Amino acid sequence: MDATVLAGAPLAAEIREGVRKRIAVLRERGIVPGLSIVTVGEPPSGNPYVRAKCRAAEELGARAAVTRLPHDSSEAAVRAALREISDDPSIHGVILQLPIPAPLRDERHLEDIAPEKDVDGIHPLNVGRWVNGLTAHRPATPLGIVELLRRHAGDLAGKHAVIVGRSRIVGRPLSVFLSERTRGMNATVTLCHSETRDLASYTTQADVLIVAMGKRRAIGAAEVRPGAIVIDVGIHPIEHPVPGGPKYEGDVDYESVRRVASALTPVPGGVGPLTVAMLLSNLADAAERAAGIAAAR
Ligand code: NAP
Repeated sequence: MDATVLAGAPLAAEIREGVRKRIAVLRERGIVPGLSIVTVGEPPSGNPYVRAKCRAAEELGARAAVTRLPHDSSEAAVRAALREISDDPSIHGVILQLPIPAPLRDERHLEDIAPEKDVDGIHPLNVGRWVNGLTAHRPATPLGIVELLRRHAGDLAGKHAVIVGRSRIVGRPLSVFLSERTRGMNATVTLCHSETRDLASYTTQADVLIVAMGKRRAIGAAEVRPGAIVIDVGIHPIEHPVPGGPKYEGDVDYESVRRVASALTPVPGGVGPLTVAMLLSNLADAAERAAGIAAAR
């Protein structure tokens, strides 16, 4: 069997088009949504993910700015930058680009961004709201995966979704969203991590397998149930790409898994474009709420 390729780009383009229209309405009212990203210790060549977010925001009519803090920034300096940007009324979305270098710790900064501007959906107030099914910014990558599954996997009720990776921005929120008592969700969810014993015994039970391990080609055909839908979140640059060949690879061994899965996301071009589209949707929500317009979601 050769898996159907679940390309994220067409769905991402649809979502972006909707966001473009919403931003146009805001601009007619004199509001230009502003996105501000804080990076710590960004290499001189820049961060491709930050560039992609800024470019995508500007393409849709929003403004984007990056504050680059040095590698050895203190916790107080990061906090001060995030709070100052959060206080700026022309900024509607604030992101601390993760990971940040040690000894800084992500969790020490979760509350430094105003919750209404936390377009990554990780402020404890937002987490508490989305865990309880209330309206809140939700993390963009799991939102994108949910949209992709809604489009291509049908109703998940009673299906077994196995997630490998429990990160704050991907695996853990996705486990909440897929198990929600809402139309199309209601999956039975297993959340695996590095302390999971006999990982394959879980992954081979999955109707839907989502891999967010940050380990290149860690999941091969032997770890996948024949006919499963496989979502590969990982993205790793190939160190020595063959000319004309792929430049990136995922957490899933694409070549072996495509022979057993029924559907599989490519890397790049799978989850990545959806993450950016959903982030911009969160930015539009934030700007609409600030303007007193009911958000679309
Ligand atoms: P992360 O913070 O790096 O965490 C990785 C998770 O995988 C952890 O929960 C870890 O367990 C688990 N893990 C690691 N090795 C494992 C093993 N051998 N068996 C089982 N679980 C294992 O993850 P992330 O931020 O979610 O990122 C994951 C990948 O997705 C990265 O490649 C990242 O670049 C990519 N990513 C892509 C997008 C996109 O839009 N395409 C967005 C976000 C992230 P512990 O918790 O026990 O350590």
